[in-house]
Parts: sequence; structure tokens; C-alpha cells
Amino acid sequence: MAATETNPLTIFDDHNPPATELYKKCVHCGFCLPTCPTYALWGEEMDSPRGRIYLMKLGAEGNASLTDKYVQHFDRCLGCMACITACPSGVKYDRLIEATRAQIERLHSRSPAELIHRQWIFNLLPYPERLRAALWPAWAYQASGLRTLLRNTGFVKLLPRKLRSIEALLPSITLRELRADLPERIPAQGELRKRVGLLTGCVQRVLFSGVNAATARVLAAEGCEVVIPAEQGCCGALSVHAGQEEHALDFARKLIDVFERTEVEAIVINAAGCGSTMKEYGYLLRNDPRYSERAKAFAAKCKDISEVLAALEPRAPRHPLPLRIAYHDSCHLQHAQGISSQPRQVLKTIPQLEILEIPDAAICCGSAGIYNLVQPETAAQLGDMKVKNCLSTGPDLIVSANPGCLVQISAGLKRAGHPLPVLHMIELMDAAIQGTPATRIQTRREP
Ligand code: SF4
Ligand code: SF4
Repeated sequence: MAATETNPLTIFDDHNPPATELYKKCVHCGFCLPTCPTYALWGEEMDSPRGRIYLMKLGAEGNASLTDKYVQHFDRCLGCMACITACPSGVKYDRLIEATRAQIERLHSRSPAELIHRQWIFNLLPYPERLRAALWPAWAYQASGLRTLLRNTGFVKLLPRKLRSIEALLPSITLRELRADLPERIPAQGELRKRVGLLTGCVQRVLFSGVNAATARVLAAEGCEVVIPAEQGCCGALSVHAGQEEHALDFARKLIDVFERTEVEAIVINAAGCGSTMKEYGYLLRNDPRYSERAKAFAAKCKDISEVLAALEPRAPRHPLPLRIAYHDSCHLQHAQGISSQPRQVLKTIPQLEILEIPDAAICCGSAGIYNLVQPETAAQLGDMKVKNCLSTGPDLIVSANPGCLVQISAGLKRAGHPLPVLHMIELMDAAIQGTPATRIQTRREP
């Protein structure tokens, strides 16, 4: 228990506990409950936004203990922020859960197995070079046919639970993607309209280098000069969402340093979780006198790729793509950043493309940063629900604007025995500009 001078009973410490003025805004109306994925699965009050806010209050007032059970309710939260969109009282659940998770990581003792698993995640994923090195054995596992053999014979089910969940999510790895790197500057085609920076991300840079390349090509085709600093690292989103506050601050400061040197008008992001975190740098670094003002200026420049394209009059001709696509809204785009019309507006510039709306679109697919690694069973249940809803629209392919969702939906499609292609929105736009035939897109491999 971490009693403080001002509040001797509280279970939290003095460093940014969940703020009273924030949790007191909750009027317990319950409007957020139907959009909460964990409440939808279990109907358990303490696994709803209202229940979790109540648990924060109990903890702050010293009427709960930091037990495994207490922590479990917060670990089960996906951080999908659907409750923010649904809340009529404007409760800032994002700030509450981030503060609570940072407290938990500082004050709660996790089991040794859980600690090792989390340390493995946080010492690997945010570091592209380490991740790239670690993926060579995974490439060999796939390229040698061992993966197919283990899956076809059912031996894959004998792997330890955590390893099995990683195996299930592992996208197809190609040598081209493992080696791919973009140049530091890509000139605009035609008259220059904007000079923008591109975030290449950490996991994104290694596993989705094709999405980054497509983003740069589309921006250039639309008249943007694209600056891609080679020394950029992780944005800190994975750390923020998991309560690893110091790591997150460190990543944020380094990214600000790197992009300040580029003097670009905007910083373009194609991963929703990264974008939502970078737009909040001003808040994240509010107590750092060296960075607080710079962080606000940096955050104001951050734009999702769909925001940038929606604001530009289309210039590059789009070839028709006679395809029916189920468009999946990423939570960190629709709920955390309030962006849902722009990706549709951008996709509508592709002739003959039909956009299908998915039932229960507000509910998370279960990807949620590292959620599908630390809570694999719940994530798989949500992934299966999302896939069922996507398939109910009868699409030719599924499109989203966030790499984590692509991996999660692709894994769900495999479980369901429906090998539909899953593409990032910008890959589809790139295909339309490049004139890729629809038939080639339909036969594309999994992400
Ligand atoms: S962030 Fe998502 S999972 Fe967490 S309480 Fe809100 S709606 Fe539920
Ligand atoms: S909708 Fe808002 S005010 Fe109502 S219970 Fe949920 S968080 Fe509280």
C-alpha cells in the first residue's frame, strides 16, 4: 500500500494518481456499457468502464487493495476508448486508465512468469533492429515449411500457451520486408504542395514496411515531399498503453528531437495507436520544463494519413477498383482521435470501390497494442466476433487503417477458414494510383 502525505489511506502514490476531478465526472449512467468489449463478453460490472472507474475511486480512497484481482480488471481493459465516444459526461477515461496503469506497474508485484513475458515484449517490440534480428528465425520457420507442417498436423497446439498466441499472430515474413528501408527524402511529384515527415514506427517498420512504402508513394504522388529521418525510433505508444511511463517519456523526447530537425509542416502517421499517443505528447510531457512547449508544438503537427489526404484535393489519377470492401474502424482512430469520416472520404475517390459498413463497428477487434499478446484468449474471442461481423457484409476484402488490426483480423480469418485479403487503407489507395488490377489484390497474401 502506498499511502501519501495528503491521503494516508490511498493505494496509489503521489506521482500522478487517477485524478479525483476526472473520476468524479462519472455519473454512473451506464451509456458506455454496450460499447465496452469486455462488458459485452462477460456482463461483469467491474469489467465495464463504469466499474473500472469505481474501482479507481475505491483505490484512491483506500477502500480497495492492490490485489491480483483488482489489477486483473484493469489488465483486461483494452484501452480501446469506445467508452469515451459513448460517454455524454465527457469522462476522460484515457487519462484515468493511463494513470492507473502506471501506478500498477510501479506498485504491484506481478508473477515472475508475467514479468518475464512483459519484459520480453518491452525489450523487443519498440526496438526495430532487435525485432528484425529476432524475426530471422521466424522467417526460417515459415520459409522451411515447418509452420505449415505444425499447423497441418495440429502439433502447433502443443506449444506453450503464450508461444502459441505469438505464433498465431505472426504475419508472413518476407526477406524483402525484413531488409526494406526507405530513403530519407522522397521528392514530390509535380508542383510541391506540402513538406511532410513520415513516422515509420517500430513494429510497423519491420513487419509492415510495405505500408510505409505505400504511404510515401501516395504522398509523393499527391504532391508532398516526404522526409523520413533514419534515426527515428518508437513513439512510445506501446509503453504508454501498458503503464511503462518512463520508457514512454524517453521515446517521446527522442522523437521530438528527431522531427524538430526536419522542420516539416506535418508529421504523417499510418498506425492509429501511434497517432493517438503522439497527439497527446503535450499532456504526456506536461511536467517536463524542457519539453512541455515543444511537445505541444510537435503534437499539433501530427496527422493521420487519412486526415492529410482528405484535406488535399486529389491530384493523382485513381484507376477503378471494382471491389466490395468491409471497412473496419480502428479504435485508436475512431474513438481516441475521433477520425471516421476521413478514411471513407479518401477511399471514395477510388472509382467503382464499394465500402461496406460492418455491424457493431464501435467494438474493438481485440488487437489493442500488446493486448493480443498478454490477454490472448479474450483477444481471440473479440477477433472472432469482428471477423464474423466483417464476413456478414459479403466483402471481397477487409480494409483498415491500423496495422495491429490487420494482424488481428487476419488471424481471425485464418481460424474461421476464410483466407480473405486484409489491407491497410493506404495500400488500397496506392494500388488504385499504381493501376494494380483488382484480381491481383484479391489474391494477395495475408499481412
Ligand atoms: S477502454 Fe474499452 S475495454 Fe476499457 S473500459 Fe473503455 S470501452 Fe471498456
Ligand atoms: S457513460 Fe460516462 S458517465 Fe456514464 S457510466 Fe460511462 S463513464 Fe460514467
